[in-house]
Amino acid sequence: MSAMMPRAFPQPLSLADPPLSPVYARLGAPFHQPVTATPLPEPRMVHFNAALAGELGFDPDVGPQFLEILAGNRPWPGYASSASVYAGHQFGAWVPQLGDGRALLIAEVRTPAKERVELQLKGAGPTPYSRGLDGRAVLRSSIREYLASEAMHALGVPTTRCLSLVASPQPVVRETVESAAVVCRTAASFMRFGQFEYFAARGQLGPMARLADHVIAEHFPHLQGRPDRYAAWLGEVVERTARLIAQWQLLGFCHGVMNTDNFSVLGLTLDYGPFGFMDRFRQYHVCNHSDYEGRYAYSAQPEIGRWNCERLLRAVSPLLADGPNQAAEIGQDLAARYAHVYHRSVMRGWADKLGLRDFRETDAKLIDEFLGLLQRSRGDFTRGFRLLSRIRAGSDAPAKGVREEFADIKAFDAWVADYRGRLRSERNVDDEARAGRMNRVNPKYVLRNHLAQIAIDKAMLGDYSEVAKLAELLRRPYDEQPDMEAYAAEPPDYMRNIEVSCSS
Ligand code: AMP
Ligand code: MG
Repeated sequence: MSAMMPRAFPQPLSLADPPLSPVYARLGAPFHQPVTATPLPEPRMVHFNAALAGELGFDPDVGPQFLEILAGNRPWPGYASSASVYAGHQFGAWVPQLGDGRALLIAEVRTPAKERVELQLKGAGPTPYSRGLDGRAVLRSSIREYLASEAMHALGVPTTRCLSLVASPQPVVRETVESAAVVCRTAASFMRFGQFEYFAARGQLGPMARLADHVIAEHFPHLQGRPDRYAAWLGEVVERTARLIAQWQLLGFCHGVMNTDNFSVLGLTLDYGPFGFMDRFRQYHVCNHSDYEGRYAYSAQPEIGRWNCERLLRAVSPLLADGPNQAAEIGQDLAARYAHVYHRSVMRGWADKLGLRDFRETDAKLIDEFLGLLQRSRGDFTRGFRLLSRIRAGSDAPAKGVREEFADIKAFDAWVADYRGRLRSERNVDDEARAGRMNRVNPKYVLRNHLAQIAIDKAMLGDYSEVAKLAELLRRPYDEQPDMEAYAAEPPDYMRNIEVSCSS
């Protein structure tokens, strides 16, 4: 616990290490403007990510001055904080100007591993891009972002991360009056598709090229100097996005607001709002209560990912070739990569979840049938897959402890017969080894909405212990943690339908 609480004053400010590396800052206007954070009264550390702090090269003990920085109450020594401008397609509609309305870039550091990492405060007060909103984030949504991004990281999904979560009693008005919080989130870059759309739409091709050159130099250095570097870079963005969304599908993760301003050019999961890990499996599950048309339903995510890539390709198209026809042709080829990479990644991933060594096209049917069975049985996505590793290929005995999860036991037994047949068709059928492999891709623990809600309810009363407990649990999502069995259970009925909306 001591690592989460500020130490007694006085305390040296241990920010000399890691050193600043203000590369994005040097880009200057028109990409971002200097904005200072608005102070928050009585900041209290809800959770500090000592493990990430270590990776970044910080002292895992937070002194009072560092706490003040993480609350937005004092600037990072030697760095001018800024807000970036972007545009985007929100729920399919073009919005010509958005921007960091409540996020501030507060530092760029070089870690002991020589990686450049950007630190942002989310909820640090208004910016020129706040569009009349308050620039704040509430404790509820900040806890969700903090826990989810770290959970995704531990699951092996590319994502922004969170270093700290600071709360304040300052009231913030949403549907009800809540209280403010600030997370410090980190990423190699927070650059979004929407940043390119912004300059493209205004015909500012010079700045757009400078932005692309920056991204390539900093994040895709192997492409630098190539005459086709823009196409090569976009090809990688498309492929990373396809692989990212395949990972979401395989974990039952729904993002909730897949607008192009929430899509990272590094292929990171970015902007955790009304996201959700599915409990009961439903193809058409919509996690965002404000998404009335189900645009971002679970089953729609892969196609939306492709659509978003097309928006980016269209924006950057003028950099691809001198003539529009040739540029369009290159763009189409790049867009076509999405479907190919998505299909390959997701099918390989489903096969891994079933413990199949090699993927055969006929396995698609086995996967579909299992998902159909889950859906008809109102089965739990995470539990359903996790339990599959208990099925023995070497025995025809009913899969005890597994089949009970499925309402239609007869249909389940029939599926298991096919599954066993498929497993036996592989060489070296070793149930133990297969179970081990499956348990490294089918998590036991995910951030279920009800678990987050229990932590939120306690934190709103000033008790941060459940946040700490979940943070610890979700660092090892694939491990059996016998004391924590209850956290792998389905939500109780009264907590099944927690409403999560855009309000954050
Ligand atoms: P989101 O849907 O959270 O990705 O936000 C869309 C846009 O609205 C982004 O430009 C955000 O910076 C901005 N925004 C959302 N909430 C706030 C807020 N409370 N204050 C200022 N800007 C906000
Ligand atoms: Mg956003």
